Amino acid sequence: MKIYTKILIGMAVGAIIGLTLGPKSSFLKHDSYEIEKGAKVSLLVDKDDPESKITIKASEALSLRAKQIIMKEVTDGNAKVQSLPTLAKVNFRFTKKMSLSDKDGAMAKALGVTRVGDKIEAWLVLEHRVLDSGEFLVLPVPVSSIGSLIIKWLSPIGALFMRLIKMVIVPLVFCSLVVGVAGLGDVRKLGRLGGRTLGLYMLTTAAAVTIGLLVAHIVQPGKFVAEKDRAALVASFESAAGDKVDNAANAPTMVENILNIIPDNPVASLSSGNMLQIIFFAFIFGIALTILDKKRSQQVITFMDTIQHAMILIIHMVMAVAPFGVAALIAEVVGQSGVSILSALFVYAMTVVLGLSILAVFVYGGLVRFLARLPFVEFLKAARPTQLIAFSTSSSSAALPITLECAEQNLGISKSVSSFVIPLGSTVNMDGTALYQGVAALFIAQVFQVDLTIGAELGIVFAATAASIGAAGVPGAGMITLAMVLTSAGIPTVGVALILGVDRLLDMFRTAVNVTGDLAVTAVMASAEGEKLSFLSPDADLGDKTRGFEGRTDREHVPVEPEGDAERED
Ligand code: ASP
Repeated sequence: MKIYTKILIGMAVGAIIGLTLGPKSSFLKHDSYEIEKGAKVSLLVDKDDPESKITIKASEALSLRAKQIIMKEVTDGNAKVQSLPTLAKVNFRFTKKMSLSDKDGAMAKALGVTRVGDKIEAWLVLEHRVLDSGEFLVLPVPVSSIGSLIIKWLSPIGALFMRLIKMVIVPLVFCSLVVGVAGLGDVRKLGRLGGRTLGLYMLTTAAAVTIGLLVAHIVQPGKFVAEKDRAALVASFESAAGDKVDNAANAPTMVENILNIIPDNPVASLSSGNMLQIIFFAFIFGIALTILDKKRSQQVITFMDTIQHAMILIIHMVMAVAPFGVAALIAEVVGQSGVSILSALFVYAMTVVLGLSILAVFVYGGLVRFLARLPFVEFLKAARPTQLIAFSTSSSSAALPITLECAEQNLGISKSVSSFVIPLGSTVNMDGTALYQGVAALFIAQVFQVDLTIGAELGIVFAATAASIGAAGVPGAGMITLAMVLTSAGIPTVGVALILGVDRLLDMFRTAVNVTGDLAVTAVMASAEGEKLSFLSPDADLGDKTRGFEGRTDREHVPVEPEGDAERED
């Protein structure tokens, strides 16, 4: 079975596990409450005494198992009487973090504890918000403790896979870029390639935001959110959204961002994995090697080329565990995303997906068909490996090694072009993210009934294009920069809370589009450089163990003989 069929099966298995055995599964008893870090919780020390109520801000994420639940009859929006939990008896320990955040000791006193490690028994106050559908949203949201445990057990498998692919990124990008630039040989050619690449990346990003805004204008997803759902969503995600906005407030300015591209210590950039700095240094280093005498530079280039090949082989080894890693990652996301929230934000989520599809088919389809002169369907097939990895990891950085492989192996793009255009794209080109920010900004404005002028919408196009350059290719990065986009258009940043519940799911779609955009632009750049691109046929992939994705690790191992030893044996 082909490796990517296995990955697809892994994804499906992960989704099933997440839905049936995850914390929010409707097959499991919801007996526990997850409190996010920073969320406010109300506790009653004595369940019959409202005076004993204290409200605390969780200094760390807590999972509180209910020992006993008190129910109350409540009338819902459709005048139906429902029995709902109002108080849950919970136990937890007074941790060091809680003690440190409780500077004046008021919380410890109210809870009747004296030192770190003491056990607290209290009643968690459960609030109810009526959704427009008449249903109740209980806050904090009850989850299954077994489900949480299952996901917690699975999570290291996903993390292991992510770390294994991320492990090769820095050496791979650095070495392939140096070899690629040195291979181009001509500094003028480099300048032209760099200028064109950045120009096209900006254009596709601006087109993406514009599509996002247009689609959101036509569909008007904000109109589909009922007033009650809005209040419920804001209440559930307010504190988490606050964290994102705080992060955005600390983001560097544009000038700082530009200056930051130049490393003051390239070794530090390599060790911290600062991609733009690595690209910059590798670029300059590669140029220096082309100017140096060939006899001197050749050794370094051969050395880097070998490292690069070894890194690619590592990626192929790691792909063997990909189906398991992907299953665990998907199970985690699906398990933690509540279906109830998805129903409230369904139209919004569909608007984002519709926008992403339009971007992929019309913009990328146009670029690939008319500028790279390749059949688009074949192109999509060639891009599938990286799309799947980007989708399941929600990180274009993690997918970077696979994107490079797709460009070189599946599309036949030269190393000189791909090793420059792709790493640059994985950092600065995030079309899917920019489109999503356009939809999200307009959606929030519609829900909060903020009228946007044409100027404000143009501001969104500029801000989202700039933000997508600054956003890192990691899960949820677009959500942080969204706060900046909202501020630039005068939209309340609390709106981030509205969409946080479905963000992780949408992140998967937009990341898959982000990497597709990188590949489409790379194909255009390669054909503009006069390269003849060709697809790797399935037969060649299976038949030739030095090419493609299949069977590359099945080759015979050639033992490495250190030259010195060989001579001594003689
Ligand atoms: N996860 C996205 C990426 O890595 C960024 C984002 O939209 O949050 O490309």
